Amino acid sequence: MPPVLSLIISTLFFIIYRAVMGNYVFGFLSGFLMGYSTYLAIHYAIHVFKMPKNFLKIIWEHHLTHHYREPDRAFGVSSPLWDYIFGTMPKNEWKKS
Ligand SMILES: [Zn+2]
Repeated sequence: MPPVLSLIISTLFFIIYRAVMGNYVFGFLSGFLMGYSTYLAIHYAIHVFKMPKNFLKIIWEHHLTHHYREPDRAFGVSSPLWDYIFGTMPKNEWKKS
């Protein structure tokens, strides 16, 4: 996302969260932005770098399943945890064809 747009959106989040939670906004918003930045970095890495040959391969396969096989499933980018919880795990993800 362009830096200026990120700054504008972050400022809007700050104003909204400040109105809702007062001074707790400083801890909450910094954690929120750190989590979102981590998500963006992982998503970028999955699309730019080759699939690793270690435990991270599962995350790559999971996200590529979302883009190329089952777009209505596998929404988790950094982890398939929420797909287990919301029942959106791909049906055939781990089967080798
Ligand atoms: Zn993606």
